[in-house]
Amino acid sequence: MTHASPPADSGAPRRFPVVVVGAGPAGLTVGNILRAASVDCLVLEAETREFIEQRPRAGVIEEWAVRGLEKRGLARNLLDRAELHSACEFRFGGERYRFPYGELTSSHHFVYPQPLLVTDLVREYADVRGGEIRFGVRDVELHDVDSDRPSVSYTCFETGERRVVHCDFVAGCDGARGATRASLPVERVRIARHDYGVGWLALLAEAPPSADCVLFGCHPRGFAGQMPRSRDVTRYYLQCPPGDDPDDWPEERVWSELRQRLGATGVPPLTEGRLIEKRVLDMHDYVVEPMVHGRLHLAGDAAHLVAPIAAKGMNLALHDAFLLGDALVARLTTDDDSGLAGYEQACLRRVWDYQEFSQWLSEVFHGTAAGDPFRAGTALARLRRLFTSPAAAAAFAEQYLGTAARH
Ligand code: FAD
Repeated sequence: MTHASPPADSGAPRRFPVVVVGAGPAGLTVGNILRAASVDCLVLEAETREFIEQRPRAGVIEEWAVRGLEKRGLARNLLDRAELHSACEFRFGGERYRFPYGELTSSHHFVYPQPLLVTDLVREYADVRGGEIRFGVRDVELHDVDSDRPSVSYTCFETGERRVVHCDFVAGCDGARGATRASLPVERVRIARHDYGVGWLALLAEAPPSADCVLFGCHPRGFAGQMPRSRDVTRYYLQCPPGDDPDDWPEERVWSELRQRLGATGVPPLTEGRLIEKRVLDMHDYVVEPMVHGRLHLAGDAAHLVAPIAAKGMNLALHDAFLLGDALVARLTTDDDSGLAGYEQACLRRVWDYQEFSQWLSEVFHGTAAGDPFRAGTALARLRRLFTSPAAAAAFAEQYLGTAARH
């Protein structure tokens, strides 16, 4: 819902060419691109700086996204510190199968925890490029986004006062639970949703990775995954019923299930450690269309969510942000509208491609434990094909790394 006109500002109303709502990977990347072109913007973030710099989430970034950050001067620490991955390992039928996607694509995954990337981006935006940012804002509302004089109002954390900011454009980068999406017109908005009918218990263990690459265990008891994050912290996933209570998963049960589901001939034992995060994700995807309404452009999880099956969400958020940042700069500095005009279509082509891949991979991960011998049989056929057909392996590698020349 767009609020028709802003309430009176308790201070003098301010004006910025762009207001960015949300300081996640998408919002901070847009802000950085604008600041690099000397375009002023204001970022509004509901949480504190300390909170966003520590919120654990993603860790796998595709090489094209890293190069996109590098091109915009945003990848110095990442390139210094990230681990390069060029293979993953599937475990099924009691055996292990290494999949060398680097050889097939000449491309890598970079493992760099999301909190580190957010820390780099916020420092670069606020401390180096001099961008304005307000943390802890409440009740963000958009006004008149379908006019050429939109504004954003919010409650200031420090004073509790209501503030109004006038702008030319609003970037809605406030994630899956944000406020900006509500400004799309109800009669035009379509939310395409897919529910996988499974949950993943998402875990962070204070322990070094148990293997040097991502592990996918496709087991009759359910999927299990290992994603290295750093030398001392490892993410694990365990398939569970949706809505399961994390408290029903004491450490002993977690490690016992991981040992069984990731077990295979000749593999070393898992390196266990204290669990520092334990939450259940109900696995689902959605795509919101339109992503653009008047002067509001959505980016990242605000517009589309993809379950972490193929580790795609942050990559899509960065893809949107590159397109939106560049398009806003072109519009505001040279009056070139073409980037903004093509923004939604360019985003959605990659979004739908990644959604389809996640759905395909979900069946590989979950089919074995579906309790349906037909699904178990076809899941096994998909897995075997990856290791018997070079064409199937090449197609998988291209999708997993996002290296297709066009989407
Ligand atoms: P967010 O990161 O959600 O940022 C939105 C920001 O907006 C937040 O800081 C939020 O506090 C703020 N906000 C919300 N509401 C408001 C409001 N009303 N006003 C102001 N600010 C607001 N993706 C990958 O690519 N690879 C992975 O390996 C991967 N693993 C994942 C593992 C887990 C457990 C989870 C949960 C996700 C994972 N993802 C992964 C997905 C990835 O984390 C998200 O896709 C990514 O964070 C999206 O970035 P964003 O900037 O669009 O949104």
